[in-house]
Amino acid sequence: MLIVNYDPEHGWGTPEIKPYAPLVLDPMSSCFQYCPNVFEGMKAYLGPDGEPRLFRPQKNMERLARSAERVALPPFDGDALLVLIKRLVEIEKRWIPNKPGYSLYLRPTMIGTRPALGVAASDAACLYVVVTPTGPYFKSKARGISLLAVSESVRAWPGGTGGHKLGLNYAPGFAPQREAAKKGYEQILWLFGDRITEVGAMNVFAIVKRADGALDAFTPPLDGTILPGVTRSSVLSLLDAHTKGKSLLPGVPASQKIYTHEIPITMSEIKVWSDEGKLLEIFGVGTAVAVAPVGRIGYQGWDEEVVLPQHDGGLGPVGKGLFDHLMDIQSGKVDFEGWSVPVV
Ligand SMILES: *Cc1c(COP(=O)(O)O)cnc(C)c1O
Repeated sequence: MLIVNYDPEHGWGTPEIKPYAPLVLDPMSSCFQYCPNVFEGMKAYLGPDGEPRLFRPQKNMERLARSAERVALPPFDGDALLVLIKRLVEIEKRWIPNKPGYSLYLRPTMIGTRPALGVAASDAACLYVVVTPTGPYFKSKARGISLLAVSESVRAWPGGTGGHKLGLNYAPGFAPQREAAKKGYEQILWLFGDRITEVGAMNVFAIVKRADGALDAFTPPLDGTILPGVTRSSVLSLLDAHTKGKSLLPGVPASQKIYTHEIPITMSEIKVWSDEGKLLEIFGVGTAVAVAPVGRIGYQGWDEEVVLPQHDGGLGPVGKGLFDHLMDIQSGKVDFEGWSVPVV
């Protein structure tokens, strides 16, 4: 693990890469009381040359800095942290399974360690990065994940913190997630009123057919209730690149136009599109899964579930094209705008 501490007197200390071990913290530490805890999720992929590569890691450094700022944790140098992370990955590269879809998951974490009960910003912090080998995410991907649309519990709201990767955004979702699982659904489709926001801890895309055969790709806008995913941003760029003929999605004809829209999507629209046979695909996107197909959606306001068209292997043509393209770019097989960064 990589670890470095900040204290109000000396600022950041000397970073250390050392064997994975428990942390020793004062029980009054603000991370246990008021939750100034932020994290990132990123992966190191093995390239064809056997060397590990990171995917757009600068974006994770920038997001971690924004998250830290949101809960008043001390600022850090993102470029310096990235140098340290690359060093850590280089040292641990033997843990990256050399199999397609496998990688080393990195969890940069920053916690407030001010050892006092006063309700105030933490002027001390611990920044650490742990790593673990990881493989394909959802077991049921082949038939698409089942979603329960939930509006009684809200993941994020205007003016809230849903647009940041804060630990405190996740615990309130665990009880609703357990309820959804009892009803036979794998993930929650988080709503805000009638609007869909995210799928579990993934950003969401809907692919809708136009009368002229072109496709619309809808995803909710970054209005503060949506986590600005690196995968979300990459998927938008890859769809635009395909439509402009700059870089084609594997398996998707060059003539197939796909127009991206960052606009709100409502449950009523999903229902209408589905009834009219225009709703081709819904998928979640995020570092953990890359692209995860949605199979069916249940919702209290509906008589029956919306069932998405089924495809061999789960993903529809657009989702599959994006998944394959992302895998090729992340592993360094294909270059796209320098997104894949070797660690050495
Ligand atoms: C991390 C996360 C995502 C996905 O972000 P990526 O940068 O693509 O991994 C989406 N939604 C939530 C709530 C998240 O925590």
